Amino acid sequence: MNHKILICDDEDTIRETLKFILGDFYSLFLVNSVEQALYTLENNTDIQITLLDIKMPKGKKLDALKEIKSRFPHIKIIMITGYRSVETAAEASRLGAVGYIVKPFKAEEILETVRKVTVLPS
Ligand SMILES: [Mg+2]
Repeated sequence: MNHKILICDDEDTIRETLKFILGDFYSLFLVNSVEQALYTLENNTDIQITLLDIKMPKGKKLDALKEIKSRFPHIKIIMITGYRSVETAAEASRLGAVGYIVKPFKAEEILETVRKVTVLPS
């Protein structure tokens, strides 16, 4: 349980699914708003990874990524998205995201992506 992961998604089922997949291997923080994500990161400085829904209720696509990255540059962010878009994936990567997962995802895909990210240098 070394790695701490923040999961930020406004859909209950996505948060619960990710918790089910990752919960045995990582310490998780689950939130459903960007405000809560920022608050949680501020108060838990040992969180290294965030799984972030690309479209949260407030703000445009990728706004949350920009905001988290500007305030917490060291956080490794994996985007979760509802549709595959090469342009959006490229833009997310340019803004500092280190992973991009398209729903519906498989458990192995999540575990593999997170595992890869945990070994990246900070
Ligand atoms: Mg959403």
